[in-house]
Amino acid sequence: MQRGSEHGSARGPARGPDRPVERGIANILHRGTLAVMAGSRTFERGERCMAEGRVAQVTAGRGELRGVVRPTEAGRAAYEVRVWVRAEGLAYECSCPMGLERRFCKHTVAIALAHLERERAEAERGLDVLRQALPAVPPPALVDGLLVLARRDPELADELRRLCLDTLART
Ligand SMILES: [Zn+2]
Repeated sequence: MQRGSEHGSARGPARGPDRPVERGIANILHRGTLAVMAGSRTFERGERCMAEGRVAQVTAGRGELRGVVRPTEAGRAAYEVRVWVRAEGLAYECSCPMGLERRFCKHTVAIALAHLERERAEAERGLDVLRQALPAVPPPALVDGLLVLARRDPELADELRRLCLDTLART
């Protein structure tokens, strides 16, 4: 199968452990960024492509996403998409005609959106576990734990302070 040419050498040695790189792609991949990169028309087509369930597969790892998008016309090969992080931002390739012209196509939008949606669902499942477990933690242990986290993270400390003030103001 013909593939889009690679935009530079993204296959260099992996930079650091997996996690920071994956967080890198998560930081760059926002809906807003995608809309700007693709343009609003392509972005909307990508949204539709995902909503129609055409994303057959998405895998994330080592600062890249790979995905397969089903074609609408029977007999056509599935589109293979890859998005990866480079120092200067996102690089992408897709086996569709638009991707071969190195343009940010709707399939790229669709697999990026599918990835974001999956991350959101996973985060929500993680919260469900917390929702069930937190009430079982004795309040003093909860306070100690929150203070440890607040010491580590000044932003969280600010948010907790605000939460306390709001709650106290309401009682
Ligand atoms: Zn494409």
